[in-house]
Amino acid sequence: MIPPAVTPADIEKAIRNVPDFPKPGIQFKDITPVLADARLFAGAIHQLTKDFKPGMVDAVVGIDARGFIFAAAAALHLQAGFIPVRKKGKLPYQTHEESYDLEYGSNSIAIHIDAVAPGSRVLLIDDLLATGGTAAAAAALLKKVGAEILEISFLIELGFLDGRKKLAGYPVRSIVCY
Ligand code: AMP
Repeated sequence: MIPPAVTPADIEKAIRNVPDFPKPGIQFKDITPVLADARLFAGAIHQLTKDFKPGMVDAVVGIDARGFIFAAAAALHLQAGFIPVRKKGKLPYQTHEESYDLEYGSNSIAIHIDAVAPGSRVLLIDDLLATGGTAAAAAALLKKVGAEILEISFLIELGFLDGRKKLAGYPVRSIVCY
């Protein structure tokens, strides 16, 4: 892929804010206009992977569900494997699970116990960093399988929620920050 001349500002302009979705008070960041634009999609993958070259990363890990889109494309770009972290109950083989708190209740995510060989160098990617609970739980799963996390990357960060605090100790990158 030839690096397209796409800036974070170009990507930010395409992100659609949808108020009160999926419930009142949430400002949902809709990334579908970024995905629908070939130049912006390629630019987003370029931005998310720009510190890495093929051979530096064994696998890119994506978080269910929008994280899959970016992580799978990044994996192809870096000639690395793709590993899904899924919502509990969706992976068919034996799993490790991690729970994390939501505003109301909790959520669980899972990874196959043999998803990566111990010592594998991985990038962890999701579409958006909010409170950091999801990414921290995914990082804990990767620790359980013995992966080495090189970086945790997001297309969007809601900086005012301070989610990075939960990811202390890991390099964290975001392309567009609100
Ligand atoms: P958190 O665990 O609070 O960091 O939430 C991050 C996860 O929730 C990501 O997988 C996002 O896809 C999703 N998410 C949280 N807040 C938003 C938002 N305002 N717009 C879009 N997705 C969101």
